[in-house]
Amino acid sequence: MLRVFNAMTHQKEEFKTIKPGIVSMYVCGPTVYNYIHLGNARSAIAFDTIRRYLEYIGYQVNYVSNFTDIDDKIIKAAKAAKVSEQVLTAKFEQAFDEDTAPLNIKKATVRPLATEHVTEIIDFVKTLINKGYAYESMGDVYFRARKFPEYGHLAHQSVDDLEIGASERLDDGALSKKEDPIDFAVWKGVANDASISWQSPWGAGRPGWHIECSVMAIKYLGDTIDIHGGGQDLAFPHHTNEIAQSEVYTGKTFANYWLHNGFVTVGDQQEKMSKSLGNFVTVHDLLKDVNPQVLRLMMATTQYRRPISYTETAMQDAENTLKHLTTAYRNLYFRLIDAKTESANTVIVEKIATFIKHFKIAMDDDFNVANAMTVIAEMATYLNVLASQTDRLIKENIEGLLSEYTKMLMVLGIDIEKESNFKQTSDEQVEAKINERASAKISKDYQLADKIRMELQAQGIILEDTPQGTRWHKE
Ligand SMILES: [Zn+2]
Repeated sequence: MLRVFNAMTHQKEEFKTIKPGIVSMYVCGPTVYNYIHLGNARSAIAFDTIRRYLEYIGYQVNYVSNFTDIDDKIIKAAKAAKVSEQVLTAKFEQAFDEDTAPLNIKKATVRPLATEHVTEIIDFVKTLINKGYAYESMGDVYFRARKFPEYGHLAHQSVDDLEIGASERLDDGALSKKEDPIDFAVWKGVANDASISWQSPWGAGRPGWHIECSVMAIKYLGDTIDIHGGGQDLAFPHHTNEIAQSEVYTGKTFANYWLHNGFVTVGDQQEKMSKSLGNFVTVHDLLKDVNPQVLRLMMATTQYRRPISYTETAMQDAENTLKHLTTAYRNLYFRLIDAKTESANTVIVEKIATFIKHFKIAMDDDFNVANAMTVIAEMATYLNVLASQTDRLIKENIEGLLSEYTKMLMVLGIDIEKESNFKQTSDEQVEAKINERASAKISKDYQLADKIRMELQAQGIILEDTPQGTRWHKE
């Protein structure tokens, strides 16, 4: 039974979906004005791992994650780069894909853009005004936070505590427009000469940030969603405001489970990563030097709520682990050469079932990937033990083990089959291997000859023996 820590109740709860077999999941996506940094990648990896595990245990996951493509930061960055907002955001939407694909982060089922939902956002704001929860003030529209009785529950703070924080944060002269300092903007009026704006009943303007997530989550997933995810820094004000708007709009609970991922700190000083601290690492830069699967493994093996400290040591450890896992896979894979085809050894079949059971027990406990990794490491040891046995192994057992091992690693976003072929073999190296195999055959070392063929096959290189010699092609 899967149990998840719900940030709303601060408790681990049994996970039950609204519709049987289907999970609706909304995760706040990036503001596309720059390359993503390690903190963004961490959030994407954490929720991708959660999604992959839900799929592993049989759920269909409808995963919606937005791109915030209109925002003060975007307007500022576009001005600095002397391009339009659309050109800037299109560039960084594409960069997001280029940076996340090598990390094996699956694309969301739906990836809505804020700017493509402005009509719906305006209608949503109108409803909030009609219900008496929002008001227009000098071209802006604000939400009456204090009128929503559960305001602040997710942040586990009282409205008065939050109000102190809100007043401290105010810097844009909005205070004079608000009935109450805790109120927040759902629509922002802009001057007529602004580069980007939409016509609304309140004049030219653009949506506030929080409102886009409410509108898009409800539009694509329904009034109540199963899981709402995002970084822990989003609990207040972003998620707090999403809840207030959405629940006033629908009259229903917005999300049943709130999942927040922890921070990334950089270096041994454990500083939280931020631009102002100058320890801001973009994934784009990092992937120039680093195997993406090492970065994925480093991040995917820390439970999503815990902080990750990005250090050289952590990356080195992940690299060693990945090497170890890959070697175990390859060692057993090569035993397929001399494997028998007969009914599987029941001891090994039971062993596989036990690995699966322990993996699920770990992941069912609020996605405890660290314990799941221990199970995978035990499995790698077992793969090596079997591979070193001198008896002939049974094909079905080897394939069963490799398949389950591959699936578990894929939940963590590690593609072990791909990793086994990671070093691209050059044509010269292939030719050299073919010559080595030919010599082995001449000296009747068929075991070695087969091993070379399997090794090349594992790298997608297929050999074909013809009367004229050995030909080869790539799969
Ligand atoms: Zn959001």
